[in-house]
Formats: sequence, structure tokens, C-alpha cells
Amino acid sequence: MTYDILALQEMLKAKQNGRRFTHTLGVQYTSACLAMKYGADIQKAEVAGLLHDCAKHKKPEKLLKYCQDRQLEITPAQQRQPFLLHGLVGAYVAREKYGVEDEEILNAIKWHTTGRPAMSLLEKIVFTADYIEPGRNQAPNLNELRRISFENLDQAVCLISKQTLDYLEKTPVDIDEITRLTYEYYKETFN
Ligand code: FE
Ligand code: FE
Repeated sequence: MTYDILALQEMLKAKQNGRRFTHTLGVQYTSACLAMKYGADIQKAEVAGLLHDCAKHKKPEKLLKYCQDRQLEITPAQQRQPFLLHGLVGAYVAREKYGVEDEEILNAIKWHTTGRPAMSLLEKIVFTADYIEPGRNQAPNLNELRRISFENLDQAVCLISKQTLDYLEKTPVDIDEITRLTYEYYKETFN
């Protein structure tokens, strides 16, 4: 299947504000670069990167309703902080609205926020690209992390999930348990 990247970009641009759309393009291109480096399907990486936040503009009530309507199971942390659902809902929106049927792409969208143990190559690529794309400037050591991302992807996933956990521990936001499982898995894998 070939995808009309320009058409997807235009649909997303109509939904996202400038800042989010810039992030979207950054994740598209960074996913493509990582796919080149690690031998993943470049077009799938671009589509997954483009669509990873396709549900992020939805309001909390909408995200919850979307899950209720489809009888999707949600965790207590997701109930309290519905933005945690934007990956899961994004995978459904990618299928229903953007016509993506490829399970690999849909899983990369679904798991991009928390990661999960034993991710596919495409899942690791989008998870990492979301964190290191050129528009990001928050995390400390981003330059080092960007370099590592192109040297050892499992190490990058380990560091990103660790930093996400450390960050969440300092905020009143609940930690989705799977973030911790992701870190523990990749700590073992990398070491
Ligand atoms: Fe996201
Ligand atoms: Fe994102």
C-alpha cells in the first residue's frame, strides 16, 4: 500500500495548531531518518510519525467518550488523565479517518507515549522520534540523546523511558504503569 503523504499532512494541518503541526512534521522526518539508519520501512515510519498525535487535539471528555463508545478498556490513570488515551484513540482515528490498516503503523501510534516491553522496530522508532525531533528543547542532554538514538536504539528507548519516569515522579501526574515496565524491560535489554 502506498500512502499519500501530502494529503495526510494537509488533513492534519487543518486539525492541529502551528506548534503541534510543526512537532508532527518533526516526528515524521525524524522517524524517516531512524528508519533509514535501522532498516525499517521508511514510508511506514513517515505515516506513523505523521499520525502519532492525530487524536491529541481532542478534549478530555471527547477522548473518554470515544473509548466508551467503542467499549475500550481504560486504566484508572487514563480515567483521571484522559490525555494518556491519545495514543490508543489515535490508532483508531488513524484507521477510521485516515484509512490506515497496517497493524505495525497502528501499534506504533498506539504505544508512542508510554512505550511497552518488547516493542517492534517501528514502535521504537516513533517512540524515540517523538522525544528527539528537532522542535523539542525541554529535556536535558538532548544532544547526547540524539546521538545515541542513531547509535543504539534500545539504549535510547531505555534513557527516554527513564527520563519520562523521573519527570513524572516530580509532577502530580499519575504514572501509567506501562511506562515503568517499558523502562525495566529496556534496562535489561540494553545492559
Ligand atoms: Fe503524543
Ligand atoms: Fe508527539
